[in-house]
Order: sequence, then C-alpha cells, then structure tokens
Amino acid sequence: MVELVVEDGVFVTMAADAGRAGAMLIRDGRIAMVGQAETVHAAASGAEVVRLSGATVVPGLIDAHCHVADVGYLAAAADCGQPSAPDIATIQARLAEAADRTPAGAWVTGGGYAEYKLREGRHPTRADLDRAVPGRPAVLYHTSLHACVLNTAALREAGFADGQPDPPGGAFGRDSQGQLDGVVYEAPMFALFEHNLRRDIARMGAGTSGGLVQAAGRRLAAFGLTAACDADMRRDTFAAFAEADAGGLLSQRIYGLVVHDQVDWLLGAGLQGRHSDRLATEAVKIWADGGMSSRTAAIHGSYPVPPYGSGIMYFERGPLTEMVRDFDARGFQVCIHAQGDLAIETVLDAYAATLTSGGGNPRRHRIEHGGAMYPPLAERAAALGIVVASQPGFLSALGDGFAAAFPDSVDQLYSFASWQRAGITVAGSSDAPVITADPLIGIRDAILRRTSDGRLLGPTERLPVRAALALYTTRAAYACHRENEIGSLEPGKFADFTVLDANPLETEPERIPGIRVLATVLGGTPVYQSASIFPGR
Ligand SMILES: [Zn+2]
Repeated sequence: MVELVVEDGVFVTMAADAGRAGAMLIRDGRIAMVGQAETVHAAASGAEVVRLSGATVVPGLIDAHCHVADVGYLAAAADCGQPSAPDIATIQARLAEAADRTPAGAWVTGGGYAEYKLREGRHPTRADLDRAVPGRPAVLYHTSLHACVLNTAALREAGFADGQPDPPGGAFGRDSQGQLDGVVYEAPMFALFEHNLRRDIARMGAGTSGGLVQAAGRRLAAFGLTAACDADMRRDTFAAFAEADAGGLLSQRIYGLVVHDQVDWLLGAGLQGRHSDRLATEAVKIWADGGMSSRTAAIHGSYPVPPYGSGIMYFERGPLTEMVRDFDARGFQVCIHAQGDLAIETVLDAYAATLTSGGGNPRRHRIEHGGAMYPPLAERAAALGIVVASQPGFLSALGDGFAAAFPDSVDQLYSFASWQRAGITVAGSSDAPVITADPLIGIRDAILRRTSDGRLLGPTERLPVRAALALYTTRAAYACHRENEIGSLEPGKFADFTVLDANPLETEPERIPGIRVLATVLGGTPVYQSASIFPGR
C-alpha cells in the first residue's frame, strides 16, 4: 500500500458539498480522504508527507475535445502563429530555419498562422513559400487547420495541378490568372494533413510512434491537464496511444473519439471499450460541417466575407441520422462536430430521431463546438439532453474573425451562460492544436469573453469563475462518462490533481492565464513539475 499525504495547500475540490480542506490522503493512486489536516494525519500516521506551502490544488484539468496526436505532430513544426510571427517575412524566416533541421525527404512544416492577424491581411502564397523553401516540399498550416498553404514542390508532390477543378468539399486558392496560389481549403487540406501526419507516424515506425503521443502528453501535462478526449482517433494513432499506454507513458487519461469510418476496424479488432485506466474507445466522432474561423461552418444565409457561401455540410440529414442510429445501437456515444446553425439543426434532427422520447440521452451523445447554437437550438438540445463540448478559448484567439463573419449574431455565439440556463451540460475544451491547449486561457475567456483586439462578445454570456472552472473539471468528466472517477477531489476517485501557485477562484480573471502550474499529478504520480514539490520523483 502506497500512502501519501498532501497538506498545507488550498484544496478547491469542486465537490458539491465542498467544505474547507487543507490536506488530502492518497492511497494506491486514489483519493482516500480530503479534509482537515489533523483528521487526515490521524488516518495515515506513517504516510509520506508532501507540503505545498499554501499552493492551490484543483482537480486534474480535463480537455473534453482536443487532437492529441496532432498536438504531437505540430509540436515539431515551426511556430508561425501571431503575434510571434507578425508578417509574412517572419513566417518565411521561420520556415527557412525549419528547413535546416528537417531531414531530407520530409516536408518542411510550419503552423499556427491566421491571415487576418498578419500585417498583410492575406494568406501567404505558394510564391512566398517558394522564396523561403525552394526545391523541396513545404507546408504551412492555418491555425484553424481548415486551410493550409503549399509551396510548388509540395503542390506537385500532393498531385495538385493548375488546371485542376476544386475537389468536392473543398477549394483551391487561385491567383488572377486562375493558377493555384498554394492555399488549400477544407477537404483536400484535411486529406493532406492526415497524409502528412500518417507519413510521419509511419516514418517513426512501430515501437516509436508512441513518442508522438508522449510529446503531446508532455505539452498537455505542462498545462495541468490529466485527461483529454482525443477527437480524432484512428487506427494508427490508436496504436500509438496503446503503445504509450502499455509502456506506462501516457501522461493523461485518453478518452478516444474514434472517427466514424474507423469503427468497423475498431469493432473487428475487438477494441471497443476500456483498455486500461488511461485509455478508452467508447465514442465515435462525426463531422457535420466546417469551421467558424475558416467560414465553412454550415449556416442559414451566407457569409458577408470570403469565401462567402453558406459553408459546407458533409452529410445530409438522412445519412447522418442513419449513422447516429447505427452507432447508438452498437453502444457508442456519438460526438458530432457541428458549428453553424444549419449543421446544429441537422444534428439535433438526427439525435431526435434516435433518442426515444422520455428515455433521455443515456449515451450522452454530444455536439462538438456548437458555435452558432442560438437560443431556439439550445432549447432543443437541452430538451434532448445533449452534452456540448465547446471551446471558450476560441473567443480570445478567433473572436475577431467571428465578428467579421457573423456581424449580426456574434454576441450569441458560444453562449455558454444561456446554454447552461437552458439545462445543457457544457464541457470545456481547447480543440488544440487549433488554439493553445492551455485551459487557464479557456477559463479566463469563459469569464471575460474578450477578443484579442479587446472586443467584448456577448457580455450576458460571461460565466462566474467557479462555473468556468467546472467546465474543465466536473462538466468535462461528465461529458466522457467519468464523473465517478475524475473531475473533483473526492474519496474513491483517482488522485488526479493540478497544483497551482494561485487560487483561480480568487485571482483577477485577466491574470488567470499567468497562474503557474507547479505540478500535474496523475493517479498520485507527478507527470509534470515546474517546482520540486514531489522530491525524488
Ligand atoms: Zn476538433
């Protein structure tokens, strides 16, 4: 029996009956007791003691929707995000640097840019990339991951030619002569990202692909995250997670949302369900439409800004309903990406056709994102018991772009307070690497709702701080059927917790992202430490 007392801290338990606690007893990786220091000591007189000197302990933070393998893949890419790369010249310099350290045969990779934040206010082009990286393939991913730019060598290797028409579900940027300008939108971009990621995983090879998820895990642990839903799990990334899990190298509990077209493989391999305390595949992921910042979310009406149009739907109502019914019948929780109001309406129709009236939503079928879930849609979602995994951090990172794309309804986007008033369980998440995985930024944005330009979006939708923290703890745990195991500091649950140098409940909201993560602890074992709190570990 391994016993550890953690004391002299401020314990924000997030339990319903939260009394004041100054100490916590951990026994064999689970919480045995949370309470007054004297009581905890009396229960475990011989235990090792860790003193926190007044630091704050919160439940291990949970990201209910992120792309873990992608985080690992992009961790190695050149940082071309704003504000750190304010103009195209800086992006070119970063890519040129990256070329020097990229092995021959591999693509030079950059990521994180948003054209509306660049000084030039436009996408970099193939010519811009050719000047930085001539003669070998280079790709630069948009921060939304719904678009990217390729140089000429990459266009050629990807098989994209000037005379080619736009592919279904996507588009190519073109110059005034109609030649490809290097920008690739939506479907071909997803295919390319997939291909590049898969190629890198394959190059790492069996036995080392776990390294990709370890790299992601280190990054997430540094943000205080002890659990994450991987919103894009496939056969090869599952293998990488399973490899890391078998080696005891997962730094988070991973709840896999298995991509719908991989489900037959999953079932055929007998891999549906829980594999360990740290790895599970119990949910299915479907994309109904595009993204908000790329203006491809499927909406009623049309966008007043490029690329105009009404967004992109990937499934009609009928086929989507069939898929939902099928996965529900096979025991899966269904998680559908839906951003625009038209997509959300279609998804709710599919859920309504599947869920028997009065039976609730026992599998906790979800909407991922839910950006334009306006009040009547939120009422419907609440009546169906739909869980929403959404991204407060979009508001600061992408909110100015939302305001341009949704001039009339921007105050009603991501309306977390209204959704909760309607009765929806809202789980917090990042959608990383679309934005940073830092949950403290999401917590701040749920409270303040300020864009990076300082615009206040939907002031009545601001959440109180405790509700904002609940998004990333209790609510996120519920969204992945884990509320009895994680999400709060209570006896019997896993000893997953995050040690912070300040109490977020008593910090000015704008200062919350500055709170330092001192340690991230998974099942009683630190997976990250920035201060030597747990000596000898
Ligand atoms: Zn996502």
